[in-house]
Amino acid sequence: MAIIGKDISQAKKLLSGGELVAIPTETVYGLAANALDPTAVTQIFAVKDRPTFDPLIVHVATIEQAQKFAASFPEKAMKLANHFWPGPLTLVLPKQAIIPDIVTSGLSTVGIRCPNHDLTRKLLADLPFPLAAPSANPFGYVSPTTAAHVNSQLGHKIKYILDGGPCRIGLESTIVGFENENAIIYRRGGISEEEISKIIGKVSYRLASSNPVAPGQLDSHYAPNKKFYLGDIDELKKEFIGKNVGILRFMNNSDSSVDHQLILSKSGNLEEAARNLFSSLRQLDQKIDIEIILAEPVPDSGIGKAINDRLRRAATN
Ligand code: AMP
Ligand code: MG
Repeated sequence: MAIIGKDISQAKKLLSGGELVAIPTETVYGLAANALDPTAVTQIFAVKDRPTFDPLIVHVATIEQAQKFAASFPEKAMKLANHFWPGPLTLVLPKQAIIPDIVTSGLSTVGIRCPNHDLTRKLLADLPFPLAAPSANPFGYVSPTTAAHVNSQLGHKIKYILDGGPCRIGLESTIVGFENENAIIYRRGGISEEEISKIIGKVSYRLASSNPVAPGQLDSHYAPNKKFYLGDIDELKKEFIGKNVGILRFMNNSDSSVDHQLILSKSGNLEEAARNLFSSLRQLDQKIDIEIILAEPVPDSGIGKAINDRLRRAATN
């Protein structure tokens, strides 16, 4: 199994030698490699069993570093970086030739993000190269939000997990690209559409099916192994009478003491719900006496839209 620790110099040593290290961020744990080393990056795809058509996000310490890897930085992108970095926002920008094709799946653009986590920021500031890092889980499964989550699935394939505690946001970054000066959200995430439009005005959202440039938007993703149904829980319960169901609710309700039921946020707080989402899905997926999982959508505003997006994709398994 991997060693789990807080030793930045150990992480630095392994990454500098072309090896993979799992790193904490405020969104989810990442599986990192030197983004400028195609051989190291190739291992990410192998360990995750991720198709090479799904591009990786490049993590940097500062805006200045991001500017070295982007061939241009539109004004709106710079406004967003200034406002939200370090933070859960990925900018898709035209790439410099120094970023290997394997990182971007051959696209002419690169997704760049400056993560907001002390340990990983120190690590990035210490490294002479940026880190390519997708979420540290087998492709298509629920993203990890603790070092233990990473260890349970990928621990036998990597040497070191940098332990930064549970992730503060718990959902992946929001991905924003720019086409003809228009800002487009390719993936909903830790920063809401409302927050983004406060900074740059109008922003649109591009549905997965019409967006072949972002295959991470595949319909079935973030999915547990068990069958997962999304809808009105009381209706679903009637449909599955006789089955051992696990239930994922948004907030407290009258029968909140039911067996195998998890509540995302007792007080109905969407940020707390986001933080608990992936670990709750894992918990229900791992309980052996649960056959299927039933969940309800959360209120569709702010980060709630990103939560509902994950729930919908989990339900297409
Ligand atoms: P993750 O596996 O959570 O790290 O997500 C990476 C996702 O970022 C990919 O699946 C894509 O959806 C998106 N992405 C990364 N680079 C690009 C790019 N150059 N253009 C569009 N989307 C990108
Ligand atoms: Mg992922």
